[in-house]
Amino acid sequence: MKIKGTAKKVDLRFIRAWVHASICVLNYHNCPYPVNIETLTIEIKNLKKRINHVDGSKGLGGTANWETNTIELSKFLSPEGMANVILHEVIHLAHQDFGEGTLEFTTRTLETKLKPFVQQLAQPLSDNTQKVAAFIAHTKPGMSYRNDLEKDYYNETGAWEKVGAKDKYGAKKRDELVKQKIIERLKKKNEELTLEDFKDEEAA
Ligand SMILES: [Zn+2]
Repeated sequence: MKIKGTAKKVDLRFIRAWVHASICVLNYHNCPYPVNIETLTIEIKNLKKRINHVDGSKGLGGTANWETNTIELSKFLSPEGMANVILHEVIHLAHQDFGEGTLEFTTRTLETKLKPFVQQLAQPLSDNTQKVAAFIAHTKPGMSYRNDLEKDYYNETGAWEKVGAKDKYGAKKRDELVKQKIIERLKKKNEELTLEDFKDEEAA
C-alpha cells in the first residue's frame, strides 16, 4: 500500500489500520473482487470542490477507482468519519456491483453493519502500532532476539501462553464427532450382542 498526503485530524497509522482491517474482513468473506493491498494507492487530499455524482452535492469524503486500485480520502475527516469513508471505499473496490440502482444504498448499508466488526480489528492494530513495530524490529541482526547457543532451538520462554483463543465452530464440530463415535460404538455393540444371542440360540 502506498499512501500519499496527510490528513488534518487523523494519523497515518489510523488510516493504515482501517484500510487493513476493512480489506481483511471483506477478503475473508470472499468478496467478488478481493482487494490487492500491495498495489493499493491511498491519496489523502482536499475533495471539497468535487461534485458528488449520486446526489449532485459539492464536496466528497472519498472515492474508489477500480481500474487504478486507488482510494481518495478527504484530508478534513474526523476519526469516526475517516473510518466510515475508508470502509465505504474498500467495499466499493471489493464489490463493484450490487445490481441496478443500488450501488450506494447497499454499500452504505454494508458499511453500517460492518463498521463495529472492522473497528475491533482496526483499533488494536492502530493502538499497538509502535509496540508491534518494535517487536518486529528486534528480529533484525544485532537488534536482540539472538540465540547464544551454537545450535538453533525453539525458544520456550513464554511459549504457548494462553491468550483466550476460542473456536466456537470447532467445539461444535468436535462435540458432534464425539456423539457420532458413541452412536457408532453403541451400534456395533448392539450388533455384536445380537450375534452372540444368535450363537447361544444355535448351541441350544
Ligand atoms: Zn460510495
